[in-house]
Amino acid sequence: MVDWSSRVQEFVDGIGASVAVVGRNEAGQLVVPACNDGFFQMTGGRRPGVRAFPIPLDTLVPNYARHEFREKLLECFESGIAQELEQAYDLKDGTHWWRMSLKPFRHTDSGSTVVEILVTGLDITSKMDLTRALEASTSRFRSVVDAAYDAIITIDQHHHITLFNRAAENLFGYSSEEMLGEPIERLLPEKYRPYHARYVQQFARSPVRSRQMDERNRVYGQHRDGSLLPVEIAISKIVVDGLIEFTAVIRDITDRVRLMDLLQKQAVTDELTGLPNRREFLGVVEHILESDDELSVFLLDIDFFKKINDSYGHDVGDEVLRILAKVGMASSRKSDVFARWGGEEFVAALPQTGADDALAIAEQLRATFEQQDFAHEWRTGNAVPFTVTIGVTTRAPGERDVNAILKRADQALYRAKQSGRNRVEAG
Ligand code: GH3
Ligand code: MG
Ligand code: MG
Repeated sequence: MVDWSSRVQEFVDGIGASVAVVGRNEAGQLVVPACNDGFFQMTGGRRPGVRAFPIPLDTLVPNYARHEFREKLLECFESGIAQELEQAYDLKDGTHWWRMSLKPFRHTDSGSTVVEILVTGLDITSKMDLTRALEASTSRFRSVVDAAYDAIITIDQHHHITLFNRAAENLFGYSSEEMLGEPIERLLPEKYRPYHARYVQQFARSPVRSRQMDERNRVYGQHRDGSLLPVEIAISKIVVDGLIEFTAVIRDITDRVRLMDLLQKQAVTDELTGLPNRREFLGVVEHILESDDELSVFLLDIDFFKKINDSYGHDVGDEVLRILAKVGMASSRKSDVFARWGGEEFVAALPQTGADDALAIAEQLRATFEQQDFAHEWRTGNAVPFTVTIGVTTRAPGERDVNAILKRADQALYRAKQSGRNRVEAG
């Protein structure tokens, strides 16, 4: 008769996994009546002679793993239910991870029923290494994404948010928990929402993998509080498990936009008076001259301005220039342009205005200054009297040359100065 242990031994030695049978001796200690080489390799134990079986479990399993292993075995004995166990064994060549399954079984040996447990283990070290490497790379990815200065948002093929980093939380005022699973449209100004899905689909179909969103126009996001956020967006798409995902890197350009607006304004504005400058004025007039609209222009020069500077100081001279700007602006109609030509000279464009009306407007303005018919708190305490001289001209039909028009205005101004100042002259 072949004895049970050696039959099992033969069987288990043929399996690539670690296999052991665990039973209990009379004293109730856990013993291994049979195991294969794989089991010795797993625990790092040395195979004794066959006669040494059954081996006490404790001599096979290193002490750091013993307690956990024993607990599972006892649970299996008591409940009769299969158990699972994952353990790490530190061997000479490094740490090995094993997944073990513990299955109780009954058999008859020498006429009595015995309960034993079949332990089979699989080396999952390479799988665990992979999982760890993945965890490490995932957490590295997470930290990079979260430390990023730019907002990073990912959406799935249904345009629902799957990633919302810390910078995105700060930019839009929503927490990541609030936004995950939400449609991306929630972050857009309402008027763009209806078109966005189509835009994303177009991008999905195009062969381009990444691009800058709308380089010509400004792009806006919408903050939780409803305010618009000028942003710069680079989008890219990736295919994950056959499904398309989109990632947007969003930079808040509020400061840049503000600066650009300021520079833009400075480029066309006279610093002292806040009026449009000469360049802006010429641009507007040239634009009007492209049409056949009526247009009158006048050139205004402060009389004896040098004397004002000399008698009251440069600061008061500046004050007069500002008054001129304020009054000139206030008396302008909506489509008029009142600008600083330079020094103490100002210029006005009066679209859709004929010669008579232009003359009347200029005369009115001249009188306003002469009579000081405006409210102003003089810094000197007393009003500084001053007058202006104006040369007016009107565009000839079909005339396109701004310089010719301005030259006529200048000549009219010169004649007015020659004939005594504080006058309006047409030319
Ligand atoms: P006229 O009646 O012939 O026009 O005499 P005027 O003194 O007004 O003319 P002139 O062209 O001789 O003098 C212009 C003065 O304007 C000279 C200059 O110092 C002064 N001026 C030019 N720009 C500014 C400015 O921004 N601030 C001040 N305070 N003075 C200015
Ligand atoms: Mg002058
Ligand atoms: Mg002058």
